Amino acid sequence: AGASFSDFKTLEVLGHGNSGTVYKVENKRTAAVYALKVVHGDSDPTVRRQIFREMEILRRTTDSPFVVRCHGIFEKPGGDISILMEYMESGTLDSILKTTGSFSETSLVHVARHVLNGLSYLHAHKIVHRDIKPSNLLVNRSMEVKIADFGVSRIMTRTLDPCNSYVGTCAYMSPERFDPETYGANYDGYAGDIWSLALTLMELYLGHLPFLLPGQKPDWATLMCAICFGDPPRLPDEASDEFRSFIGCCLHKESSKRWTAAQLLTHPFVNKDSGLDK
Ligand code: ADP
Ligand code: MG
Repeated sequence: AGASFSDFKTLEVLGHGNSGTVYKVENKRTAAVYALKVVHGDSDPTVRRQIFREMEILRRTTDSPFVVRCHGIFEKPGGDISILMEYMESGTLDSILKTTGSFSETSLVHVARHVLNGLSYLHAHKIVHRDIKPSNLLVNRSMEVKIADFGVSRIMTRTLDPCNSYVGTCAYMSPERFDPETYGANYDGYAGDIWSLALTLMELYLGHLPFLLPGQKPDWATLMCAICFGDPPRLPDEASDEFRSFIGCCLHKESSKRWTAAQLLTHPFVNKDSGLDK
């Protein structure tokens, strides 16, 4: 509280995204390190809407250890908006995947448990993330996994407008996001995050997205056909029964058949001893 943009020194660039640039910064007085997401005031209206939505969501989600904590929001007179966040030292699951090639099932139990706790918290607060994928899941020094990037998330008021649901990253999008009439009986949006979580876990396990061959570039039409007209992706036989069953519970094409985050937290896969949690 009371801090302003000028209290921080920039150390390095952590990442670029759709909405702006994220820097590693240090508080000049306390030497505490944070991540600062800066969105320029002259960005187009869509980006500005995104950042305002993200600000609103971060203000409401400060009491979960499974969501990246926001420590403050600065608005400069010129219009730049900056979000000060806890710094996640180990980066994104995407960057970890690029260095390790794939994740063991044991480490995915740990990832799944953290992300499900985060999703169950968000969904209980009527927030749909809509862009769950490895580059939006951050890891800190203690190997805790947290949900970040609420740029396209939604706070659910009355009912959902499916026409406005075309946001997020195509490869992780659920069938009802493309075709609510076929796959979205009682469409409420929350089940889309569960689908995206399962695709994320499969990608981390396989080393590539299930709908694509290793190295293949995602293209919109191929993905949409695979997601809407194909069978849901499945894990190879080497995966454990619990893991395959868990993925099956997440990847029902009909969104109302998918398990909720709270239900999935009781699934045997997540309750295996991962050896990573104290
Ligand atoms: P965008 O909406 O532009 O995708 P993100 O919030 O996903 O913005 O941030 C973009 C990238 O910046 C992330 O993929 C990650 O590499 C990095 N990043 C974001 N927040 C943090 C953080 N709190 N700690 C460390 N790195 C971060
Ligand atoms: Mg992002």
